[in-house]
Amino acid sequence: MCEGGSCSMPTGPVAHDHQDCTSVMAEVWTLLDGECNDDTRARLQQHLEECPACLRQYGVEERVKRLIATKCSGEKAPDTLRARLRLEISRTTIIRHN
Ligand SMILES: [Zn+2]
Repeated sequence: MCEGGSCSMPTGPVAHDHQDCTSVMAEVWTLLDGECNDDTRARLQQHLEECPACLRQYGVEERVKRLIATKCSGEKAPDTLRARLRLEISRTTIIRHN
């Protein structure tokens, strides 16, 4: 029972929210097109580390990690890497209302 006030959201340890995964992958798109910013990078890296299910589902972790590393080190991601990632992400991402 909750005492003196409203229950705050329980912080479930493994309450995995797929919505989160989707938005994370959306950020990968951002990274593909734009430049790295600390916020996006931190969120992506954290999620990829905390979410093996996501890694397995998308199966692009190595490339994503490489993209993050490349982008965030100020280099330009090679076109081949970008093209590959685009293809793979679009394949594995559920595209709604296309
Ligand atoms: Zn995930």
